[in-house]
Amino acid sequence: MLNGNTDKIWELLNTVPDPEIPVISVVELGVIRNIEFINDSYLISITPTYSGCPAVKTFQDDIKTCLTNNGVDNFELKLIYSPAWTTDWMTEKTKEKLLKYGISPPSKTVICPQCKSTSTTTISDFGSTACKSFHSCNDCLEPFEHFKCI
Ligand SMILES: [Zn+2]
Repeated sequence: MLNGNTDKIWELLNTVPDPEIPVISVVELGVIRNIEFINDSYLISITPTYSGCPAVKTFQDDIKTCLTNNGVDNFELKLIYSPAWTTDWMTEKTKEKLLKYGISPPSKTVICPQCKSTSTTTISDFGSTACKSFHSCNDCLEPFEHFKCI
């Protein structure tokens, strides 16, 4: 049990990967809004990404498991729906990681993660999950997913 060191909690949560994109942590995704230490307990405020995303339940479980495994049992998760999560909360570094992983990061212009071409065709508004759309590159012809901008 930690006593009020919220930095340590941020550090631990930064090791919890996004259930759908393992190269990005839940902190980098921007879903952890705030961590406070109140009445000997950590209050962790989370804003889920897409409301329909099944990953919401998974990452709550992953956060609980990570903290418990590190001996932190005095915490509470609080879901905050307003303001709604937006892809603007992702840092540039996070977007670069997405691109390297092969997913076109959220932006107005869809970029091919393979050849960086902006000449692309939308194949489907839904990729492997509702958070992504499916495209193909007009230059290298590779199909890829784009993290939708919200
Ligand atoms: Zn391409």
